[in-house]
Amino acid sequence: NGKRRPLVMGNWKMNGRLARNEALLTELKAGLASGFDAIDVAVCPPAPYLGQASKLVAGSAITYGAQNLSTEQDGAYTGEVSSGMLTDLGVKWVLVGHSERRSLYGETDETVAKKTQVALEAGLIPVVCIGETLEERKTGDTEVVLARQLDAVLPVLGSQPASAFVLAYEPVWAIGTGLTATPEQAQEVHRFLRDRLASSGYAQAQEARILYGGSVKAANAGELFAQPDVDGGLVGGASLVANEFIGIAKGAV
Ligand code: PEP
Repeated sequence: NGKRRPLVMGNWKMNGRLARNEALLTELKAGLASGFDAIDVAVCPPAPYLGQASKLVAGSAITYGAQNLSTEQDGAYTGEVSSGMLTDLGVKWVLVGHSERRSLYGETDETVAKKTQVALEAGLIPVVCIGETLEERKTGDTEVVLARQLDAVLPVLGSQPASAFVLAYEPVWAIGTGLTATPEQAQEVHRFLRDRLASSGYAQAQEARILYGGSVKAANAGELFAQPDVDGGLVGGASLVANEFIGIAKGAV
């Protein structure tokens, strides 16, 4: 995957406090200070801590993203965070359609497509998350489900250069479970997704970054990221532990 720059992104989920975040980001800054020029590294703290992250990563190559965004801009949308607020805080990336958003907060393929569009319009890089459940894998529906989830965002992504977005394949059965997809399982799906991008008429399918997510740790990152169509990882639990996250980033170098 020589054409594609690896990306390792931490999703902190709803974790963190000012003191803990400072300690973690300070360790990451030190640990990632040299030897990581060939990859992109990013963290996605909870929204209230994006301003703190912006200050703490200043002067380093670490960038930061949000975990969600509103479909709306300003106005009477209590509790929501808009794309304009995120860009105001220097946010570069935004997760869209994480499986927890889909399963716990009712986000549909349509919501995900709309949020992807809103992110792109603001100049944020959406990291669009898709993945099958264990049940869907068992019944042999993995590709049907992934095709449906990908096709929902293709009308929005199709007009964009590959640098404008990232896809993340996160099998739901591997998220937070300690069950990681094997490198072969990940590669099979990543190839399927890239082929589908290409067969849909998307000209830059070979340049599009597709991350793997689901119980990535320092111990398994290297073999996952070595797969030809795996361009890095989206990391939940292990991104809260500095040495683990640094070890995962090493797996992408
Ligand atoms: C995630 O939340 O995107 C994720 C992959 O979580 P974990 O690494 O904890 O499985």
